[in-house]
Amino acid sequence: SETKTEPMRVLVTGGSGLVGKAIEHMVKQEGGCLEGEQWTFLCSKEANLVDLQQTRAVFEKYRPTHVIHLAAKVGGLYLHMKENLNFLRDNLRINDNVLQTSHEMGVTKVVSCLSSCIFPDKTTYPIDESMIHNGPPHDSNFGYSHAKRMIDIQNRGYFEQHKHRYTAVIPTNVYGPYDNFNFENGHVLSALMHKTYAAKKEGTPLQVWGSGTPRRQFIYSLDVARLFLWVLREYDEIDPIILSVGEEEELTIKDAVEMIADALDFKGQIVFDTSKSDGQIKKTASNAKLRRYLPDFTFTPLSEGIKKTCDWFVNNYDIART
Ligand code: NDP
Repeated sequence: SETKTEPMRVLVTGGSGLVGKAIEHMVKQEGGCLEGEQWTFLCSKEANLVDLQQTRAVFEKYRPTHVIHLAAKVGGLYLHMKENLNFLRDNLRINDNVLQTSHEMGVTKVVSCLSSCIFPDKTTYPIDESMIHNGPPHDSNFGYSHAKRMIDIQNRGYFEQHKHRYTAVIPTNVYGPYDNFNFENGHVLSALMHKTYAAKKEGTPLQVWGSGTPRRQFIYSLDVARLFLWVLREYDEIDPIILSVGEEEELTIKDAVEMIADALDFKGQIVFDTSKSDGQIKKTASNAKLRRYLPDFTFTPLSEGIKKTCDWFVNNYDIART
């Protein structure tokens, strides 16, 4: 039918963030945009999605056929621990506004973004897509986690009641250009890059919060972006899919710190402050489902991604979120 061949109009919420900027790069500079498609990248200044009227207005303006929903109130471990209620309420409202408005305006497909930190705290490893709701998330970010989990429930509801193909991806720890490099609120790698940069400049030791022993799977934002485009165009399930490097590529914060020190040529002392919280000790995720679909996908090696991100940070210090 005509509607099927009509080029997509894609609205990306959270288009100014780490993942949004990476998707924008793929679309505008790496040929990710097909003939006739319209892509719009939103930031919170254009529409505060906590507000239903503003959400409706921006959907009316762009009339999307497809939505990539990235907008979320996000923070690092320490901010989450301080403000669980705010993370819960803002995210519940953002997600409900985006999904219900998509439904009301006949959006064909929505790809939302969950996170591997919403998985059950007490679990067997590796964690896979079927285990999201199998027990409470870690206490440190219960607000954010429960709001994210509800997206999966909503997707199921929109399919059962309205036959919409609204789905979600579950990236593990994303890092890359345009991340939040703030010491306190940033994600672990970017905060560490900023700290290392500062320690080098000031000739002081590098203070790492926590013991350095927790293990994580890190994925480069440009890899996440390539996978998002695949999910938008090809992935047909309602059930979510984990976007991650393999289990064997999980490594410690300490390993990552050493790569960052290398990338920034930091030769000073590295101190682990064990009075600070570690968060979850590990949360190994399985990428078996992704591998069944895309056996040949190649991930950017961590040392290479860290080097690129450090270079970006140093060259864009003025505009970086610090
Ligand atoms: P960022 O913090 O970099 O970006 C957040 C985005 O959400 C920004 O574009 C921001 O807009 C927007 N936003 C926040 N609040 C609102 C609001 N009230 N109304 C409208 N827009 C809003 O996040 P990431 O790119 O890191 O994350 C993108 C998605 O991926 C999120 O859903 C996150 O939960 C998920 N995710 C991230 C992981 C990671 O490691 N980074 C891991 C797993 C999942 P503005 O710039 O104007 O503030």
